[in-house]
Amino acid sequence: MQMVCGTCGSSDVAKKGVRYNATGAKQKFFCHNCKRWFVDDDGFKRMRHKPNDITRALDEYADGASLKKVQKRLLQHDGIKVTRWTIRNWVVKYSHLLKKPRRDLAYQRLRAASMSAKNT
Ligand SMILES: [Zn+2]
Repeated sequence: MQMVCGTCGSSDVAKKGVRYNATGAKQKFFCHNCKRWFVDDDGFKRMRHKPNDITRALDEYADGASLKKVQKRLLQHDGIKVTRWTIRNWVVKYSHLLKKPRRDLAYQRLRAASMSAKNT
């Protein structure tokens, strides 16, 4: 996984120590391109996919689209190729970014999906 600078998008970044705060340790990075420090704080910068793509996919899932449908849409509209398993992981990892009612919907659907997977 390639780390990129959150300010300029450069991948010319170096790990430089760790910063501690209330929620634990955070890796600090230095960008050689724009000469800025930044912290890996939201988990997204490490991802290959844009936060917008992920939250929209989660939104669609909460709306009732199947994982298969969300997967197909990502590929056809955005040229993003992911597995259904990846989308499922996004739901687990990032659904806190959705508004509460939608988040609950996404969780419900995920639970239902894993129940039916067990029964078959
Ligand atoms: Zn930079």
